[in-house]
Amino acid sequence: MEKVVIIGSGCAGLTAALYTARANLRPLVLTGLQPGGLLTTTTIVENYPGFPEGIDGFELMERMKKQAERFGARVNFGTVTEADLSKQPFRLRVDDEPVETETLIIASGAGHRHIGLESERLLETKGVTYCATCDGALPIFRNQPLVVVGGGDSACEEAMFLTRFGSVVDLLQRRDTLRASKIMAERALSNPKIKPIWDSVVTEILDVTQKKVTGVRLKNVKTGNETTLECAGVFVAIGHIPNTELFRGVLNMDEQGYIVPKQGAATNVPGVFVAGDCSDRVYRQAVTAAGLGCAAAIEVERYLAAKNE
Ligand code: NAP
Repeated sequence: MEKVVIIGSGCAGLTAALYTARANLRPLVLTGLQPGGLLTTTTIVENYPGFPEGIDGFELMERMKKQAERFGARVNFGTVTEADLSKQPFRLRVDDEPVETETLIIASGAGHRHIGLESERLLETKGVTYCATCDGALPIFRNQPLVVVGGGDSACEEAMFLTRFGSVVDLLQRRDTLRASKIMAERALSNPKIKPIWDSVVTEILDVTQKKVTGVRLKNVKTGNETTLECAGVFVAIGHIPNTELFRGVLNMDEQGYIVPKQGAATNVPGVFVAGDCSDRVYRQAVTAAGLGCAAAIEVERYLAAKNE
């Protein structure tokens, strides 16, 4: 039986792994489908302390993994498909293998939010994507007009990255201002290849019949005017949805599915702790996720010490 299993291998999960490993708890980290988490899809991370020149997101996560492994963490590729938290030990099913554990840290992060259009679903991987870093350099996008949907830091980052490949990048925001931090917004809006389109939403992505993206149909939410904009790619960057479906009805969550901690990193189930983007709808930064992973690890240590007394 495991002392601690950590679901997720992003900043929160790997920091929890580092701390629980150094406490001799030999944590088992289950990576999920995206080892290293969402940060591995970012290019340069400029706001993680300790890296004045910035660091590549993938490299940062590789370093965190190595650091945790150095102290005995086991990082296994695997996805939890079932979790029985009704009694101790907790029983998980990991890709059809049973795993029992005394404590659990849920650091399952968040996935990309979708616009919710049928045409978006049908054209995914055919010009609709959620990751400029992963897909931006594909030949279909080279020297073509591209659209980024969203007005947050992610959308600005994606738009700036895409200026390397596209002929022009239209940044589509549903309001008349960006949500992004000042520095990111200024950088994006001062880039001559980025053209903001305000107060507008995508009502359809064209062209499902051709099985490729040829444009978007837009609606101005203030005037109601509908227009069509030609493009070869649609990059959706409208936020995230917490990966917490497995625990619905078991752990306390808010209406958007973020796990609500009872106190600190503890949840309503004793022995189950939470860290990072799956429970943080406010800060959602690499460094806050790492901090929350540390907090959850310390809580696990204390919980096990009290239990064994
Ligand atoms: P976000 O800050 O939640 O922004 C989401 C954007 O998408 C908002 O502009 C929102 O519009 C828009 N939006 C949401 N739902 C929509 C819909 N259904 N249709 C059209 N537009 C929609 O998400 P994020 O940009 O992914 O950032 C998440 C967190 O990560 C933030 O804390 C951010 O600071 C951080 N982050 C930081 C960096 C960096 O510092 N380098 C990079 C990426 C992300 P409204 O503005 O109208 O709400």
